[in-house]
Amino acid sequence: MSRNEDLFERARAVIPGGVNSPVRAFGSVGGTPRFFVSASGPLVTDADGRDYVDLVASWGPALVGHAHPEVIAAVVEAAGRGLSFGASTPAETELAEEIRRRVPIAEKIRLVSTGTEATMTAIRLARGATGRDLLVKFAGHYHGHSDGLLAQAGSGLATLALPGSAGVPAAIAAQTLVVRYNDRAALEAVFAEHGERIAAVITEAAGANMGVVPPAPGFTSFLRELTRRHGALLISDEVLTGFRSGPSGYWGVLREAGEDVAPDLLTFGKVVGGGLPVAAIAGRAEVMDLLAPLGPVYQAGTLSGNPVAVAAGLATLRLADDAVYARIAGAADTVSRAASAALTEAGMPHVVQRAGTLFSVFFGAAVIDGVPDYETATLQDAAAYAAFFHAMLDAGVSLPPSAFEAWFLTAAHDDAALERIISALPAAARAAAA
Ligand code: PLP
Repeated sequence: MSRNEDLFERARAVIPGGVNSPVRAFGSVGGTPRFFVSASGPLVTDADGRDYVDLVASWGPALVGHAHPEVIAAVVEAAGRGLSFGASTPAETELAEEIRRRVPIAEKIRLVSTGTEATMTAIRLARGATGRDLLVKFAGHYHGHSDGLLAQAGSGLATLALPGSAGVPAAIAAQTLVVRYNDRAALEAVFAEHGERIAAVITEAAGANMGVVPPAPGFTSFLRELTRRHGALLISDEVLTGFRSGPSGYWGVLREAGEDVAPDLLTFGKVVGGGLPVAAIAGRAEVMDLLAPLGPVYQAGTLSGNPVAVAAGLATLRLADDAVYARIAGAADTVSRAASAALTEAGMPHVVQRAGTLFSVFFGAAVIDGVPDYETATLQDAAAYAAFFHAMLDAGVSLPPSAFEAWFLTAAHDDAALERIISALPAAARAAAA
């Protein structure tokens, strides 16, 4: 028995499914999950001592590569000064300032520990600001695992083929209206019927939890106009895209494309913590100031703005200059083109979709015209992806263990790492097509 198999067996005896987050269990691709013991630059090393070129990057945070010496030094230095004070620290303000420098419409920022908390609080703020209850979300968009946001939430639920979660009271689920992404007519219809009662529309800045599904040109501007017309707030969830799809997140990508859209609230996570638990709610000062202690909307956290976690986030963002984003964009070009070429050569129908530096590959004849929404994303050939995933893993490349995820590159993916990916692709593509 390999160390990975042994560890998985032991884990399953004490941890439900052997994992602390469902997608890690390899449920949809089969086989034994790898237990990682260390990571450095573009590589992760498992308990059997094998290393893999990593295309998960901790689901985003490892923007500058794993265990970057400057990030580690910042964490060690902060840890040496104390792990947590339950009081304010200077670095929290520095991190908030760095976020606002990159995304100036984030006038005020509140730090929390997870993306789930950030979106949960953003919704409470929207309800507090409008005095309304209903929330509109898009099918296939994931905003964390709070009760009201688990309806047709893509990603982990899609991997397990679940429409939602058990344990969510019907009365809470009824407050969430789920609409097809990129579908203007469906949104108009929902607002025509319930407009007076809708507190907010929450959207991933670019869909990236059903594979990568960017907003159609003009769709985010349309969302802004529609919500404003009906007195509802627009919440842009940049937990995944923020400071990853580009230096100013997907907000910046859209702006460069000529769509200057100012959501009322934004949420950040992943990269802002550089691999430790930091997330943020941000937005218009007038709305953000409704948070306690200034306003009536309550939110709190023992570990919010934790000094060690904030040090990791600040160090990561300070390293993430234009050269880092250019490098990641170049690596995304290289890998996505090589994957597409190998799949074409093997006769495997597919489509590559991009959102800034993020991309994913959808497998199967049913999706080759493009994936604008969740319904289409579910038509992909998950069995072909599973075969591809395992062939890549055998060749030393760790892809996301689900067809419903983005592929993540880092600035540490050097030529050697890219070459290892490229050389593994032809055999994996043939396995997918078999
Ligand atoms: N929002 C988006 C867009 C996400 O991708 C995620 C996590 O993948 C979350 C929210 C939830 O963040 P967390 O896992 O930190 O709770």
